[in-house]
Amino acid sequence: MTTLVPADAPAPLTPSLLYLDGVTVSFDGFRALNELSLQIAPGEMRAIIGPNGAGKTTMMDVITGKTRPDTGEVLFDRGVDLTRLDEAAIANLGIGRKFQKPTVFESHTVEDNILLALKGDRRARAVLTARTSDQETRRLDEILEIAGLTAQRHRLAGLLSHGQKQWLEIGMLLAQDPKLLLVDEPVAGMTDAETEATAALLKRISAADHSVVVVEHDMAFVRALGVKVTCLHEGSVLAEGAIDTVSENPRVIEVYLGR
Ligand code: ADP
Ligand code: MG
Repeated sequence: MTTLVPADAPAPLTPSLLYLDGVTVSFDGFRALNELSLQIAPGEMRAIIGPNGAGKTTMMDVITGKTRPDTGEVLFDRGVDLTRLDEAAIANLGIGRKFQKPTVFESHTVEDNILLALKGDRRARAVLTARTSDQETRRLDEILEIAGLTAQRHRLAGLLSHGQKQWLEIGMLLAQDPKLLLVDEPVAGMTDAETEATAALLKRISAADHSVVVVEHDMAFVRALGVKVTCLHEGSVLAEGAIDTVSENPRVIEVYLGR
């Protein structure tokens, strides 16, 4: 079958899961984001790099509704305008955010932590005494596998290493089945082995069809992800592309890598 498309036809609607265009955020006249434009495809993992103060965290604050942009478009999942929604409504749309400090229940086991997240209920006693459906059990096993914590499932979360706690927290976010997961500096404070394991974990999440936006300074980690990289600087995109292209960009070397 042939589809005729006139040469002057408008471009097809963007297939982006997340679409930022011309986003500006000012704090007392200082532009933390300055006409930022960025698009993430469904199922894509994107690494965000850039010097301190480049606006990386502010970008995540805008996406999650913590900060309202002064101007610009922020659209999610076929045109939902995130600038009109509050943080809870945005989370409910399927945007999960991993903060740096893990907030796991230390006195519960790894699998109970994930079950609590799966059932979307923080009343531990009620949840943990209730019956777990076969579907929940399957999902629990799947999440433990993705998070690399199957062997640790019966351990108390409080006994996990720093890295394992971070993975558990990511597993708890996965339990909410986000379309998009935002992760800010996940390997800070991790050993080299934990850093490598975290790259593998995020790749499994991405392969399971979740989009991921990960901010990280550790270039070995970013390289291990093997995904498209965006370098932010002064609130906008300085360079974007494969890691080799971006890391050879003279401006990126000047403002970030070469320091
Ligand atoms: P990054 O995460 O890339 O290091 P941030 O997004 O945290 O950068 O910060 C970008 C700029 O905006 C920085 O100069 C920071 O000081 C400023 N900034 C961020 N949040 C606020 C705020 N709530 N009030 C004032 N300035 C802020
Ligand atoms: Mg930051």
